[in-house]
Amino acid sequence: MRYQFVLLAAATIAVAASASAAAQNRPAIETTKVEGTDNVYIFRNVNHQSMFIVTGDGVIATDPIAYGRPTGGQAYVDEIKKITDKPIKYLIYSHHHYDHIAGGKAFKDAGAHIIALKRVPEHLAPLGDPHTVLPDETFDEKKTITLGGTTLELVYLGPNHSDSNIVMWLPKEKLIFLVDTIPVGAVPGLGMIDMFPLETEQFITKVLAMDWDRMIPGHPGQPNGRLGTKQDAQNVLTLMQEASAEMKKLGQDGKCWADAEKEFKLPKYADWPGYAAALPLIARRYCLLWGRGT
Ligand SMILES: [Zn+2]
Repeated sequence: MRYQFVLLAAATIAVAASASAAAQNRPAIETTKVEGTDNVYIFRNVNHQSMFIVTGDGVIATDPIAYGRPTGGQAYVDEIKKITDKPIKYLIYSHHHYDHIAGGKAFKDAGAHIIALKRVPEHLAPLGDPHTVLPDETFDEKKTITLGGTTLELVYLGPNHSDSNIVMWLPKEKLIFLVDTIPVGAVPGLGMIDMFPLETEQFITKVLAMDWDRMIPGHPGQPNGRLGTKQDAQNVLTLMQEASAEMKKLGQDGKCWADAEKEFKLPKYADWPGYAAALPLIARRYCLLWGRGT
């Protein structure tokens, strides 16, 4: 019996070790073409990723993802230059968080026009982060970019993960690029910190009603960096609804913070990647909602 346990434990460790070895063996920077498309690419820098589209008239790039990576913006520009000699015409910010948009200077120097939701510079300007370039142009709710036969729709569907996060939609390719709100195959963790919980349920419902098949997330999907599906979006919506209902009881019983945060569990998701680290963050956010009213 004991021997069997040791074997099982050793096998578990071996699987975990090989998974992390695979992650460690990945190059830090990688560019891959999205299967089934002519010109849509994913640029990954460690654990962040963004989408870019190469057209005959130039490139539409998104999120420089260079927070804490001083050469990351230039590395991204260099990766694009390996694929095309067309100019980078646009750089679109998904939202205002530095981990996704620091590093835009290399794009600006390459001649890109930077576009973001109006609320992005409202967050950025007062802080003056030296690594984050302000956008050249902003929009309120919707903006369509057409370049070299590609149409990219930038859509704001209300507060979700932050109040500046947009959906980038390629209608012809039936693809969306959506950062941080819907982790693919994993429990939402750090992304919960400034999440608008009730509005995000409405947001995901609106995203589900859009015409798309595949979602490029801002962090590689689990497992193996896969893209997301509508089922993934539905799963995260269900998780949020269940987490909210669970904390509602505790919060309205007067148990937030300490007691509620200790009692709060989501056993259905215990085997999802990131569960242990994410649970306290989910609990804290919903305690803020149901125990404080925010
Ligand atoms: Zn974010």
